[in-house]
Amino acid sequence: MKLKIVFLAAAFLLFEACSKVPLTGRSQLSLVDEGQMLSLAQASYAEFLKENKVVPASDKQTVFVKKVGDNLINAVKVFMNQKGYSQQIKDYKWEVNLVESKELNAWCMPGGKIVVYTGILPVTKDETGLATVMGHEIAHAIARHGAERMSQQMAAQMGAVVGNVATSSSSQNQQIFNELYGVGAPLALLKYGRNQESEADRLGLTFMAIAGYDPRKAVDFWQRMSASAKTQQKPPEFLSTHPSDETRISGIQKYLPEALGYYNQK
Ligand SMILES: [Zn+2]
Repeated sequence: MKLKIVFLAAAFLLFEACSKVPLTGRSQLSLVDEGQMLSLAQASYAEFLKENKVVPASDKQTVFVKKVGDNLINAVKVFMNQKGYSQQIKDYKWEVNLVESKELNAWCMPGGKIVVYTGILPVTKDETGLATVMGHEIAHAIARHGAERMSQQMAAQMGAVVGNVATSSSSQNQQIFNELYGVGAPLALLKYGRNQESEADRLGLTFMAIAGYDPRKAVDFWQRMSASAKTQQKPPEFLSTHPSDETRISGIQKYLPEALGYYNQK
């Protein structure tokens, strides 16, 4: 009897704990609410900025990165507004920073904290290339993939027992969050799932198209990324979490007509 109640409670919690991804409409597990995610992001982001060398705002590379970032942020706002999802990003405090680092990396935390590493700029090459990777990373945040990944991690660690999830400590949550974004533990960077990657590609193409960047050029960026791995001693971390293989390229090609619809509206 008791077991049955626990089961029903768990089923109810899981049902309640599902949210839907804009554009794709996929249901996702969500054991961490948006407020928690934003405060975890805030703490993790502040720590990251303290530990890393932020390129000054006056630097022309920073100006360039912020310009592309602002175009995408505006596109996201337009998109979310159009689809009736603007509530979901109402607490976002968007920020774009360029960080001095050899690493080929970029990410966007929940709440709109975007970081681009100088190491990826030769591969992004131009505005459209940079818009491809930034659009993709922003898409992970908009689709709440971080919260989903954390929820999966928590469920795995705690056996998805209702009580345990509810009482998991905030320091444990911060640790999982930091691992996800590679803050303080770059080697433990968690991977997004394949479905999350393809969802981020689809949303990212849409964002870049609304921002006025030709989504057909996205494939060029992923091919340059893949080629750059061959010239490096150690494959870039970004590629291990973002394989740019045939699956990704053919997925992008599949979503192109949809994104071009947005691009041609410009
Ligand atoms: Zn990704």
